[in-house]
Amino acid sequence: LYLDDTLAEGLVVEAAPGQAHHIGTVLRRGPGDEVRLFNPRDGEWAARIESIRKDRARFAVESQARAPVPEPECRLLVAALKRDAMDWVVEKATELGATRIQPVLTRRTVADRANAARLSAIARGAAEQCERLAVPEVTEAAPLHRVLDAWDGVPLVVAMERSVAVPARALALPPGAPLALLVGPEGGFMGAELDDLRRRPFVVPAALGPRILRAETAAVAGLAALQALLGD
Ligand code: SAM
Repeated sequence: LYLDDTLAEGLVVEAAPGQAHHIGTVLRRGPGDEVRLFNPRDGEWAARIESIRKDRARFAVESQARAPVPEPECRLLVAALKRDAMDWVVEKATELGATRIQPVLTRRTVADRANAARLSAIARGAAEQCERLAVPEVTEAAPLHRVLDAWDGVPLVVAMERSVAVPARALALPPGAPLALLVGPEGGFMGAELDDLRRRPFVVPAALGPRILRAETAAVAGLAALQALLGD
């Protein structure tokens, strides 16, 4: 269970809203049972349920099971997709180690809103399921040009179809260094957006094979390809 509170031996901590119901009703755990608590700062801890009611649970933190591990920075920027596709991308990107997920608005973006709170909850659930200690931050959707104007210079690998991009395997990026992946909307980037992207010195265009992938497939395939090329 992901818990933001400080985790250390001897502390008693309280479940976040919604967790008590999950532990008691879904997992059918009761007082005295062991649970695992984690966050990226303190790692994973074995804890015992002290008390549990419908909407409240308290845990006694006992011993550390896993120390925190630093993760290489890997941001995913994806044109906001329809709800189901976006949910799926957030779940898979969490499993694949994305450290931040930023929905962006492009000219052809269909969905104009991505609910960051709902997507954050999906990321938390996915991190719990795949035993990852860190949960990616999901930011509010922002216009692409504004994100690019404020960019800090980290290499931004932009998924572009084969005709206009070098194959991902030809990327010369240092292993372990921070990087980001940008995937366009279902209708693709518009010409002016592609021109703008190519002008930015931090942009690295990359192709993911000869077939046109759905945006959600491109996001997941791109993250997996970057991991295979550059480490974890
Ligand atoms: N522009 C395409 C068209 O309308 O023919 C469709 C765009 S595709 C469905 C959505 C996004 O996925 C693209 O903007 C791109 O970022 C990414 N993408 C899809 N196939 C790709 C490939 N083979 N290589 C790299 N990126 C790809």
